[in-house]
Amino acid sequence: MTAHETDKYVYDFAEGNRDLKDLLGGKGANLAEMTNLGLPVPPGFTITTGACQAYLATGREPDGLAGQIEAHLEALEREMGRRLGDPDDPLLVSVRSGARFSMPGMMETVLNVGLNDRSVVGLSNQAGQNDRFAWDSYRRLIQMFGKTVCEVPGEEFAHALDEAKRAKGSTDDLDLDADDLRGLVEAYKKIFAEHTGREFPQEPREQLDLAIRAVFESWNAERAILYRRQERIPADLGTAVNVVTMVFGNLGPDSGTGVAFTRDPGSGAQGIYGDYLANAQGEDVVAGIRNTVPLQELEQLDPKSYHQLLDIMARLEGHYQDLCDIEFTIERGKLWMLQTRVGKRTAAAAFVIAGQLVDEGLIDLDEALHRVNGAQLAQLMFPRFQLDHEIPPVARGIGASPGAACGTVVFTSARAVELAAEGRSVILVRRETNPDDLNGMIAAQGILTSRGGKTSHAAVVARGMGKTCVSGADEIEVNVPARRFTVGGHTVGEGDVISIDGTTGKVYLGEVPVMPSEVVQYFEGSLDPAHVDNALVRAVHRIMTHADARRRLAVRTNADTGADAARARRFGAEGIGLCRTEHMFLGDRRELVERLILAATDADRTDALAALLPLQRQDFVEIFREMAGLPVTVRLIDPPLHEFLPPLEQLAVNVAVAQERGEDVAKEEALLAAVRRMHEENPMLGLRGVRLGLVIPGLFAMQVRAIAEAAVAVTRDGGVACPEIMVPLVGAVQELETVRTEAEKIIAEVVGDSGVEVLIGTMIEVPRAALTAGQIAEAAQFFSFGTNDLTQMGWGFSRDDVEGAFFWRYLELGIFGISPFESIDRDGVGRLIRIAAEEGRAARPGLKLGVCGEHGGDPDSVHFFHEVGLDYVSCSPFRVPVARLEAGRAAIETAGSDSR
Ligand code: PEP
Ligand code: MG
Repeated sequence: MTAHETDKYVYDFAEGNRDLKDLLGGKGANLAEMTNLGLPVPPGFTITTGACQAYLATGREPDGLAGQIEAHLEALEREMGRRLGDPDDPLLVSVRSGARFSMPGMMETVLNVGLNDRSVVGLSNQAGQNDRFAWDSYRRLIQMFGKTVCEVPGEEFAHALDEAKRAKGSTDDLDLDADDLRGLVEAYKKIFAEHTGREFPQEPREQLDLAIRAVFESWNAERAILYRRQERIPADLGTAVNVVTMVFGNLGPDSGTGVAFTRDPGSGAQGIYGDYLANAQGEDVVAGIRNTVPLQELEQLDPKSYHQLLDIMARLEGHYQDLCDIEFTIERGKLWMLQTRVGKRTAAAAFVIAGQLVDEGLIDLDEALHRVNGAQLAQLMFPRFQLDHEIPPVARGIGASPGAACGTVVFTSARAVELAAEGRSVILVRRETNPDDLNGMIAAQGILTSRGGKTSHAAVVARGMGKTCVSGADEIEVNVPARRFTVGGHTVGEGDVISIDGTTGKVYLGEVPVMPSEVVQYFEGSLDPAHVDNALVRAVHRIMTHADARRRLAVRTNADTGADAARARRFGAEGIGLCRTEHMFLGDRRELVERLILAATDADRTDALAALLPLQRQDFVEIFREMAGLPVTVRLIDPPLHEFLPPLEQLAVNVAVAQERGEDVAKEEALLAAVRRMHEENPMLGLRGVRLGLVIPGLFAMQVRAIAEAAVAVTRDGGVACPEIMVPLVGAVQELETVRTEAEKIIAEVVGDSGVEVLIGTMIEVPRAALTAGQIAEAAQFFSFGTNDLTQMGWGFSRDDVEGAFFWRYLELGIFGISPFESIDRDGVGRLIRIAAEEGRAARPGLKLGVCGEHGGDPDSVHFFHEVGLDYVSCSPFRVPVARLEAGRAAIETAGSDSR
């Protein structure tokens, strides 16, 4: 036997468990778990993700797979006492995808496998001579199999179905009787043969094998690839395939199908939430094709199944210690569980549920912290509509994914993408969405559908993406070809503006003003969690408090004004990690900067700097006061000076026009000459940062003096100031040493015996600095990683251009899953950081290390900075709470893996 033949590719449901998600996919692992809990799961087996990976790598089924499927099928047939596709009493199966991570609606499913011209009669007998049901099931198989397995265009089948209804003079599928459906099966078979060049396969095992292969291949369907990229799911995982005994929810009024949650996935409120559809198959609910009734109504329709379902849901929640969502089918009064998983939820529900589960004693605070994340917190900080008086909504649907969105109405995915590319905010309006709308959903600010519930495609996908969505607003008549919708006498066309509230489900005409979130109000200090009756605010407070207690990383902010510093402090910033000084050279100070640049003599330059000094000093006084003794890292001026002058072309035109008119242009000409002199082909690699300080005498000295004088002034007023002077763009220790020697002299002179202490450190943002960090640390009291420039220079990517220019292609090719400017590239740029941290600390034990590039507020990057051992991250004020939360999560995750 070869090694391959010994690989186990197929697991009976009784052999698996919920920990085997990598192997069996989420659906398969949880079906196994439920089977082992003794819950009523239709018997079946799972083909592993490993089999799929092998198939995708080689283009054929791995050795041994066919035999293992045969053996498991035989066992299933024995258990059920029926054979697959048996003419008299057929076993039918569904073939369902199920990856490690949920990818709703992205991959394929084929139902009713095993039906053919003979077993359709057997199925009718099984169903109590229900010919209509049997032929309807058969036509669904040909349709699904044709579309999924053989790529027959779905519209062909839809067209034939419409024809059959027209012939009957009806618009409702339910009016077609057994004879009509038998005729439809013939029409479908013809369509199948025309498109594939072969007859519809009658051999059940061939149907099964082809359906399994189609599910494998659906892993690489375009929409699945797109979804994975959006959700950052690795491309090489593959899907498992579940082969499950069919149970039928469409056998009459005592049958049905539904979806339920053990708590409200929107708000987290306790209770049972779900949708039920009598006499239907599961896909009808998920696709939102027919309108469902609230699950509670099942109590009247079938009390026995309803109470059994409630018992099972309570058991599942206790077992998984989390919100579960389930899919079930009732076949003639018998309840079957088709799926469960730990349910997706909104950001608000994630916090509220984590808090509730702590109260219920099911989980501890570490686990609660683990179950929420920074992306969710960021979402909760989005603004909401400001409705001080109730504006009448024009329609009301289901609040399917919370938030407030306002934008231009579009009706197609393509138009959404087009307008979004122009920077417009759009609302995608559809009757219902399907996986083909994914691009438009990604591009849109919000999604509005007229059909479907909380579990429809639009709702599930929007929640996953954190996009605002109102679904099932059924007063709205959507006319996609005419590009308009009508509601209550209004007609809204493409280009009109609407506002939708994904929390209340309300839809408004025109633009509605927005207000900050309660979570922001809490951070701002205007909502006191001890006194406010708001489950979300209380849960956020509790979890944030725990994150703060657990985290090792300090969190600072990037702020250059007193106002920003004040806001960041309210958000929990423990210092300023980057105070950029360039804005202090703009506005009404431009004139002084021009004087500085145009200075013909040393005296002129000294005059200009002397005029700038008091202004700079006042800037720093305000910031030091606001930060009240917390560290403030002030970075000396970084951008090339010509950025402070007018653009070359504009200036040249102005000068030429003025000369033409015979005006006195001596000053403008001097300015133009300076701009020409300073022009650089690659300014980001040119005269900026420390280079500027070394070339323009007195510039850095003026800034250092302003910082030191401001600190002394604040101290003399009874305050405390802790300045840290940071030198940008250093690549060699000699650069830093030169600046430092001069700075130390000025500081000593200014601070005297005031007790003020000023640290001098550097940014590490040039790769050479990272690679010579041991030398640089000799001259630096701290390092702060400038990951924006380090990424720019590490990759050789212009940070101002590439994201818009060609990153789409890099993302498409999977060269990276996310822009390295957004989330740290651990392997490359991250390695530079590791080297610099290690060598810097080896040279100067206890060297203070921080990061102040954009990555300081990115959740994944915060985990990396924790791992590398930095002391703090610094980010924009709004990201401070996100960084605090993620720093806490990083700490418990490392503690967890240490103890494992
Ligand atoms: C950086 O390069 O990461 C940084 C913080 O500096 P700036 O963005 O101002 O260049
Ligand atoms: Mg920089």
